[in-house]
Amino acid sequence: MTELRLEAVTKRYGGRADGAGGEDGAGAGGENGGGGGTVALRDVDLTVRDGEFFTLVGPSGCGKTTTLRTIAGFEEPTSGSVSFDGEPATGVPPEERDVGVVFQSYALFPHMSVAENVGYGLRFREPPGGTTPGERVRELLELVDLEGMGERDPDQLSGGQRQRVALARALAPEPDLLLLDEPMSALDARLRESLRRQLKRIQSTLGITTVYVTHDQAEALAISDRLAVMRDGRVEQVATPESLYREPATRFVAEFVGDNNVFEGAVRDRTGERARIAIDGVDREFEIAGVPAGADRVSFCVRPAALARGAETNRFDVAVETSEFRGEGVRAYGRWNDRQIVLLLEDGVDGDVTVGFEPTDVHVFDAR
Ligand code: ATP
Repeated sequence: MTELRLEAVTKRYGGRADGAGGEDGAGAGGENGGGGGTVALRDVDLTVRDGEFFTLVGPSGCGKTTTLRTIAGFEEPTSGSVSFDGEPATGVPPEERDVGVVFQSYALFPHMSVAENVGYGLRFREPPGGTTPGERVRELLELVDLEGMGERDPDQLSGGQRQRVALARALAPEPDLLLLDEPMSALDARLRESLRRQLKRIQSTLGITTVYVTHDQAEALAISDRLAVMRDGRVEQVATPESLYREPATRFVAEFVGDNNVFEGAVRDRTGERARIAIDGVDREFEIAGVPAGADRVSFCVRPAALARGAETNRFDVAVETSEFRGEGVRAYGRWNDRQIVLLLEDGVDGDVTVGFEPTDVHVFDAR
């Protein structure tokens, strides 16, 4: 049973350890004056519930790995706290934290067999439930579908199999928390998908609280119970995959998750919650619903699947540049007035296409 909590965690690499000199509020990377060094995390609050599969997603350098390393105890926060089930973890070294960690590189010992690699996970701890180390290793190999492979060397395994050995090794001592840092990024797309399903099955069978790091938004949406979108060391939004996709809180989230088409402009001719929006930089108005009372500017997003050829309102022409066959449809990337537009169409397009959207098929968020 483990609930994980991060409260106001700030992490500064280099510079003055006291972090004095004020927050910088700088953009990507966070190089700053003040305390000096790099601010990798700024005031991060997160709660991961017991048994949850929780994902940190965001572009390169946003602080995902630093968050994971801070949870594992490889880094101490510059300020703020990490706690497990309400117990502060400050000063507790990694090997006493009861966490299993799997990194991007498999990091298996090449001169040990598969079984010895998994058994290595038990070096600090007795196997749980009175089992012998040998029994525990067999149990784990079965869990990750590698029964009978214990005597092999790591170099006799595929990349996906090696990563499952790394997972078995992390799970062997029955940790309270499983931390995974881009564990599948070295694998090809198909293997990644099947390993992702396996991982999800194992996680829910064990009911282990899990924090997973990826920069791949599709993977994050597919695998998580909830996820946090990070940007420049901050948490931008925490939500379930579905509500993140349908109700992004900010423009950044809307664009990062699900290839949303985002428009911004001034509110005109409001009637109740409906209004016409004069799109910035374009001589064009779109009619939308859900405009908050009092707003004079809004941003709104339209999902690719909501841009339909048959729609009767808000029609416009898209100059299609590339399209990809996706089995369930064709994803087309094109332009409308210098903006990229993403469409999900039932069948292929050749050249321009006219699409539109229903005024209610949008999600409006705060333009500030
Ligand atoms: P990626 O997806 O590329 O792995 P990330 O989201 O995991 O990125 P972090 O590795 O947490 O990001 O890095 C966050 C910021 O902290 C970056 O600006 C990075 O350059 C900086 N950083 C990370 N580790 C260190 C370190 N040991 N010393 C100094 N700066 C660091």
